[in-house]
Amino acid sequence: MRRSITTFAATAAAAIAVIVIAQPTSSAAAADDKLTLVAQAITLDDVTGDSGDASAAAATATAGAEACSDTTYALKTWKVGNLNWLYNGSGVPANIAGTALGTITDSTNTVATGANRCGLPKLTASTYTYGGTTTVAPQVSATATCTGNDGKSVTGWGALPAKVLAYTCTYYNAKGVVVSSDTMIDNKQFPWFTTVPANCTGQQYDLQSTITHERLHTAGLGHVDQARNAAQTMVPSSSPCDTSHRLLGAGDYAGLKALIGG
Ligand SMILES: [Zn+2]
Repeated sequence: MRRSITTFAATAAAAIAVIVIAQPTSSAAAADDKLTLVAQAITLDDVTGDSGDASAAAATATAGAEACSDTTYALKTWKVGNLNWLYNGSGVPANIAGTALGTITDSTNTVATGANRCGLPKLTASTYTYGGTTTVAPQVSATATCTGNDGKSVTGWGALPAKVLAYTCTYYNAKGVVVSSDTMIDNKQFPWFTTVPANCTGQQYDLQSTITHERLHTAGLGHVDQARNAAQTMVPSSSPCDTSHRLLGAGDYAGLKALIGG
């Protein structure tokens, strides 16, 4: 297994990140002796027991949860230099088949440029290049494990554990630079939208907010606190019909800026 990991044998480590819906769930992430698990699913109901990855060193905590006054973030140990990403449209839900790639591209570009809700200037240190479509699948299993590193960064569709919206596996080298990052988006459990439906109700989720969150994991950010940092895109759980996390909050932006040394 993981034949291609020899390419990065001495230097690769894996990062796993998920976004879950705002309901209780148990983490299905399994340990793997060759991969380092650095983040896993936590839920809205876990906020008193697991406050996410924000530490005193990384965070400038504020009492408020406003998007542009809360500059809390959590840094991981990797960052993106130049990332070539591919899209596999196999299994895309029919209602967004024509818009999903554009939306995923928008989210990627949001993270590439630091596009935010606060009027903060562009960031340009990282480059994300769309490399086209592929038939290669994201290397993420239906039980939310990272199944290998083929060196390609693929975003695609498939089954994930209950209540997991999307799951990202990121590999980075000894210098802490991402070499590949796969994102699996669930296509079994939840209706997605790319344009919020009128009178949105029920368990319908915004693809753009979700992928912005996942791309921020690829970029090197961890989770902040679901309750205290509710306006930031890096809270661990999403709510149905919510589109408020499509662009970065001040904390997301500050984290990205810190990662790239900007
Ligand atoms: Zn996450």
